[in-house]
Amino acid sequence: MRVLVIEDEKKVASFIKRGLEQESYAVDVAHDGIDGQHYAEVNEYDAIILDIMLPGKSGLAVLKELKEKGVETPVLLLTARDSVEDRVEGLDVGADDYLTKPFAFEELLARLRVLMRRGGYGSPMLKFEDLSLDPATRKAKRGDKEVDLTVKEYALLEYLLRNPDRVLTRTLISEHVWDQAFDSETNVVDVYINHLRAKVDKDVSCKLIHTVRGVGYVLKKEQE
Ligand code: CA
Repeated sequence: MRVLVIEDEKKVASFIKRGLEQESYAVDVAHDGIDGQHYAEVNEYDAIILDIMLPGKSGLAVLKELKEKGVETPVLLLTARDSVEDRVEGLDVGADDYLTKPFAFEELLARLRVLMRRGGYGSPMLKFEDLSLDPATRKAKRGDKEVDLTVKEYALLEYLLRNPDRVLTRTLISEHVWDQAFDSETNVVDVYINHLRAKVDKDVSCKLIHTVRGVGYVLKKEQE
């Protein structure tokens, strides 16, 4: 899942980015409201973490304009402890949740998971056939067997599991699993799909990850 962090305090922003990347999120960072809004409009994110006090344009102004433009990405506001009015206004304008600084990283993670569920992603446990993944514990299983995944393999599997039976283009996959630094000229997506297949579809008769020639990949039940 790909997250945009709009936060001008560089230390806080890089703390969040590093932490989220360790949890397999792809993360882009903007340090002011103008850049942040631009990123949110041109890229497809699964969640936005938005600080209220920002140079260039305030977080609330960014939020307002994004909502007016029909951007439906869930938004988690970061607010100062004493800014009750901002918080209320933020929720009124359409923020999904808020977190008061300073916060524990674990809490940020938990709130993000809730936001993604609200974003139409259904129950906390992701399941397809006998393949399952628990975003809270980050454990994946095929049948009874635990599958050991790297950070990127996990992110890829999570994205597939959130979009079963849907053909996912390489572009879509890279947009949700990798950040802005991703080089679309490479075959990185295919390489990681192959890694994932070797772990998930090996030694089983029912393959779940399928190639759609010239397009991308789909998670579906079909004998090969
Ligand atoms: Ca700030």
